[in-house]
Amino acid sequence: MASSPHLIEVALPLPLRQTFTYAAHAPIAPGHRVVVPVRHRRVVGICVGSSDGAALGEAAPKAVLAVPDAEPALPADLLATCRWIADYHVVALGLVCRAALPVALGQAGNPAPRGRTERVLVLERTLPTLQARDTAFRRAPQQRLAYELLESLGGQASVAHLMRQLGCSSAVIDGLVTKGFARVESAAVFRDPFAAREAAGSSATSRGAALRPTGPQQQVIDAILAGAPGSAFLLHGITGSGKTLVYLEVLEQVVRREGRSAIVLVPEIALTPQTVERFRARFGDLVAVLHSGLSDGERLDAWRALRRGEKRIAVGARSAIFAPLPDLGAILVDEEHEASYKQAEAPRYHAREVALIRAREAGARCVLGSATPSLESWHNAQEGRLHLLSLPARVGGGALPAVQVVDLRQELRVSPPDVRARRQVLSASLEAAIRDRLAREEQTILLLNRRGYAPFVQCAEGHVAVCPHCSISLAYHRVPERLVCHYCQHQEPAGRACADCGGAMERQRGLGTQQVERVLAERFPSARIARMDADTTSGKWAHAEILARVGRGEVDLLLGTQMIAKGLDFPNVTLVGVIDADVGIHLPDFRASERSFQLLSQVAGRAGRGPKGGAVVIQTRTPGHHAVRHAATHDYLAFVAEELAQRTSPPYPPTLRLANLIVSGLDEVGVATFAGTVARWCVEADARFGLDVSVLGPAPCPVDRIKARWRWHVILKSEKVGPLTRLLRGLADGLEVPAAGGLRLAIDRDPVALL
Ligand SMILES: [Zn+2]
Ligand SMILES: [Zn+2]
Repeated sequence: MASSPHLIEVALPLPLRQTFTYAAHAPIAPGHRVVVPVRHRRVVGICVGSSDGAALGEAAPKAVLAVPDAEPALPADLLATCRWIADYHVVALGLVCRAALPVALGQAGNPAPRGRTERVLVLERTLPTLQARDTAFRRAPQQRLAYELLESLGGQASVAHLMRQLGCSSAVIDGLVTKGFARVESAAVFRDPFAAREAAGSSATSRGAALRPTGPQQQVIDAILAGAPGSAFLLHGITGSGKTLVYLEVLEQVVRREGRSAIVLVPEIALTPQTVERFRARFGDLVAVLHSGLSDGERLDAWRALRRGEKRIAVGARSAIFAPLPDLGAILVDEEHEASYKQAEAPRYHAREVALIRAREAGARCVLGSATPSLESWHNAQEGRLHLLSLPARVGGGALPAVQVVDLRQELRVSPPDVRARRQVLSASLEAAIRDRLAREEQTILLLNRRGYAPFVQCAEGHVAVCPHCSISLAYHRVPERLVCHYCQHQEPAGRACADCGGAMERQRGLGTQQVERVLAERFPSARIARMDADTTSGKWAHAEILARVGRGEVDLLLGTQMIAKGLDFPNVTLVGVIDADVGIHLPDFRASERSFQLLSQVAGRAGRGPKGGAVVIQTRTPGHHAVRHAATHDYLAFVAEELAQRTSPPYPPTLRLANLIVSGLDEVGVATFAGTVARWCVEADARFGLDVSVLGPAPCPVDRIKARWRWHVILKSEKVGPLTRLLRGLADGLEVPAAGGLRLAIDRDPVALL
């Protein structure tokens, strides 16, 4: 070598919290991709800076094999953001950088070729009623699943995709074809499903283009645009107050007039087609929609267009926060309270917090918007870290829908025995309200909350057994029969009488979607019912297709899980029913009340978006619960005051900081034993360094088994950020995870749920 090599530090996508020193012929700017040798393999890493070579010791550095790009893949603000995530969430910087780049850029070879053809199944005959389906598929349940999936995908889907989603054989597909329900065609493989998509249903698009901001909206817009670089706002606007128009006007200024770029985060593209459509309608070719339906090649194309500044607005879910836009002027986070912004695997970042960090690094304005802000953001606004902006009224003076709370205890008390089972699903009030909508040819949405269900016990008066130390619902366990707190492992016998009223406690299992669908079909035999849950929406575009059918008026009753509560806007939906509000409220999680309030408020906001107005019916055994009471009066401020007070004793976020250490593995005893080791290690480290972090557990996780892996956890609570960071780093670097039994230790900082 003629000249002395330039030493650089490279972050590699390996689970090691260190960087590695390599030698290059010429200086390499931070953020560049580099191809380097790792044990005879070519691996793509990221240059994170120059090196003094101290870590090498006597060893000679290996040489960088290639520098593939002319420009750094990660602009400076994005690399700094990745560093922050790595430090805060105690994860390897190389893994964060890999998560920030399209899959194709993490591979040393070339991206996969495009343009093949494949076999596509096309729906031939529709079966609108449940009875018709029962008849057609009586002895072929697999065919029925395939039929319903195909239908939910808009009547057209790749055969391979269907078989993969259902895990079925080609005989199932052949059966559908033989019976004349579908035909097979050949079609080109990659078609951007969003590019081909028309505005779903309502007139949202044209309204977005034509509307002028109202006085209150303009004040909010002016305040945001007057904000200094890096300033952050919490926009609290009730449902229907026109937050999207505020976003559009902010983008107009930042992108069109200032010539800068912007990121818009939405909880899930497939669930918010109408919102996404408004951005596309206004900004057309400037927008890149980053969605899960993109192939690796398409994703790479979009990424390059953003990196070069050809597209200047990235709209997408969580990971769009890593869009490589130069000269970022604004980051908008819609529905900022949504749990889907938190990544479930390492790096376990929260896109809302990353948005704030990146905006600060880039000198961009950041807006967090919600009708029901997270308690964290609300707390941050109270403390002055976010500027609070409010839109307290619906556009055009529209009224929020009237909410009727139906007390299921009373309902069951007065029902004759033969209708009691049905009344659990459908109270007399809700049944009458639906019948009324059907007669007027208006639409109804019914919510059945099933998220992360854990069984609990409840008396006839609605009281629930709660841990005396943690204020968390006790979970029911059958073998041996007992009630367990999944935070501190407090236990009680299951057979005890209610502590509040002395009544007998009964195990609550929650209702199944299919069970509810049966009752609906039986009571409303001519209604066109659609179901939207994890079973019917496993395809990427299933949600959007079902929603499009609702928009076209092809559905009378939409029954769904919490995924139906998102930003839908259908003027003909005049009734929203919540089948069982209690399931969510009594989850063993400190955020159960907050989530329930948000869900009830969001779903109530779906009713009456049109001139016909609307009504909401909430069925519950705990009508006095603050999540129900304040959702019924649309009173976020009252809810948040009560909930914040409850989070102080015992303390939970935002009063303090939390980390969840999850131990999982194949052997139950091994998992419990290692969870004990983790807890002891934390207690000792806390005492040794005087960190003042409290350690709860170990205890089994409320969901104690996922995919054959047993799960235990240890909860860390800390009033300060720094000491918790120290403890977590010490744990990640200092405690070895035994190789036996597939043991893993996951660190989930600021968890959105402890299930
Ligand atoms: Zn407890
Ligand atoms: Zn009771």
